[in-house]
Amino acid sequence: MSRTTQDWQAADAAHFLHPFTDFDALAKKGSRIIERAENIYLWDSEGHKILDAMSGLWCVNVGYGRQELIDAATAQLKQLPFYNAFFQTATPPAIELAELLSEVTPPQFRHVFFSGSGSEGNDTVVRMVRRYWDVLGQPERKVIISRNNAYHGSTMAGASLGGMSGMHAQGGLPIPDITHIEQPYWYELGRPQGLSRDDFGRLAASWLEKKILEVGPERVAAFIGEPVQGAGGVIIPPATYWPAIQAICDKYGILLVSDEVICGFGRTGRWWGCETMGTRPDLMTFAKGVTSGYIPLGGVMVGERVARVLIEQGGEFNHGYTYSGHPVACAVALANIRLIQRERLVDRVRDDLGPYLAQHFEALKAHPLVGDAETCGLMGAVVLARDKASGTPFASDLEVGMVCRGHCFGNGLIMRAVGDRMIIAPPLVMTRDQIDEMMVLIKRCLDLTWADVK
Ligand code: PLP
Repeated sequence: MSRTTQDWQAADAAHFLHPFTDFDALAKKGSRIIERAENIYLWDSEGHKILDAMSGLWCVNVGYGRQELIDAATAQLKQLPFYNAFFQTATPPAIELAELLSEVTPPQFRHVFFSGSGSEGNDTVVRMVRRYWDVLGQPERKVIISRNNAYHGSTMAGASLGGMSGMHAQGGLPIPDITHIEQPYWYELGRPQGLSRDDFGRLAASWLEKKILEVGPERVAAFIGEPVQGAGGVIIPPATYWPAIQAICDKYGILLVSDEVICGFGRTGRWWGCETMGTRPDLMTFAKGVTSGYIPLGGVMVGERVARVLIEQGGEFNHGYTYSGHPVACAVALANIRLIQRERLVDRVRDDLGPYLAQHFEALKAHPLVGDAETCGLMGAVVLARDKASGTPFASDLEVGMVCRGHCFGNGLIMRAVGDRMIIAPPLVMTRDQIDEMMVLIKRCLDLTWADVK
């Protein structure tokens, strides 16, 4: 007999400690149980249809139910469900994926190190960056600079690289030799000072140079950043920011790491966020979109500057995961990337869907609750403001973002609240009609929220 929603909720509360969840609140309220999905829609255990404007968790870029991915997993499970890549062994899907990734990434990338997730990918970054400088005889270069409100994962190193105050407050983080600068958030930090976006972008980049000089350039190993901060609230930096960051990294010879876990595989309208932002990273972390979330896989693209040192001078790199290059995950990734290529999804985001979404978001700025609205490719953010003219925010205890998120839940839309920034990152396979449908839901939820708070 199939279980009812209440049965699921009772068993869930009794046994399942969810990630990023207040356990007590969950036990009282009960989870929403998602049972199935197709294309860009989910259905919960009560039969409600929900438009998933967050692509699962920024990952289901090709939409749900793609037969090609299911077939690739099934065939590989039958052929060879597992073998590892340790100690001079390899499997055909892992080799083929490494080859294909070097084709779809910028030319400096010809090698990949596989992990099981984005967090593990960033742990690999920390170990690899430090190993690189060790091999070059500069072991004092250990410090990695990141940004406040960045998200780089949940392992000790990932959470330390990240700049989430709530995460740093638990468990003695960050680990040593990781330090942070302020984020390039124009609306909150530049606009109130009357700075143009471009001037603010240059100012925010200059904070990196200031930090390098404070730490001592000879101690700085790398700078890491997401091209667009995702979990931080889809913070889209001014166009001047990343080129200035690149110039500073070049000036001091420090490695640039682009965390492409969200921005990779077409989200910003180019294959990689670094291409949209105009940087030439030495390392790139990826995960999520590599398999469209159908199966866990992550990794680090290793640019030639680092790869040559590790290969020619490094000897054994004492690092790896059981699931590095998992054959089933790699087979799914191959099918997924070929599908992205065949359906020209990246071009569609750049030439059609991205500009179309941008027009809609521009129109949202007229809404009385909206202080700002912006997009980059197929990701977007709406800032809810108490006074749109001055940009005055709501008191944080009102939790207006959560009020709006509640209306989204009730109206068949998944949108995420980061403070009072309402964010989306819908599947790249959406049609224009589906964007229209999503915008009707977004407007309805903004209206309902406005009625609650005005
Ligand atoms: N880096 C970024 C930019 C992310 O957004 C995430 C997850 O959201 C991660 C790293 C961590 O990836 P995972 O959850 O697969 O460990």
